[in-house]
Amino acid sequence: MTHEDQVTARPAGRDPGVLGVPGPAPADLPHLRRCVELAAEAVDGGDFPFGSVLVAADGQVLAEDRNREVSMGDATRHPEFELARWAAANMTAGERAAATVFTSGEHCPMCAAAHAWVGLGRIVYVSSTEQMAGWLAELGVGPSPVRPLPIAEVAPGLLVQGPVPGLDEQVRELHRRFRSREGQA
Ligand SMILES: [Zn+2]
Repeated sequence: MTHEDQVTARPAGRDPGVLGVPGPAPADLPHLRRCVELAAEAVDGGDFPFGSVLVAADGQVLAEDRNREVSMGDATRHPEFELARWAAANMTAGERAAATVFTSGEHCPMCAAAHAWVGLGRIVYVSSTEQMAGWLAELGVGPSPVRPLPIAEVAPGLLVQGPVPGLDEQVRELHRRFRSREGQA
């Protein structure tokens, strides 16, 4: 069963965004769903459940990636970090500022910093770092080596929206799936 029917584009619950802007627009939902698909692909590949999509101001999808920490043996292989590097190499400063990065899970401090350093624009995340910390605690996962800070703590000038009610539960399920596989390994 999917939760897609429950997904709405209304302003996201607890965290309406640092600038007080409304939540994700209807046009954002396909990109957000694609992030969840990429996160599922990551889990299928043995990687952590994260996926991200970089979209230009005109709505064109420019690049996408998923987590590759396990498969590449490099814990910095987060999709948001890869997209920031891709944007720095392939886009003008103006194009970066007008672009949006969609992601299944709120940027970690490393990726939030990279996003801000290269001057990318809006971020929309499906699930928040706060949600993930709660889910992982429930699954008995110990603390990460990096503090689970919200994006606004790292890069306070960014326009950030999320979480997305309904779709966030799909990310939660992917975390469950990933950790249950890990336990069997
Ligand atoms: Zn990251």
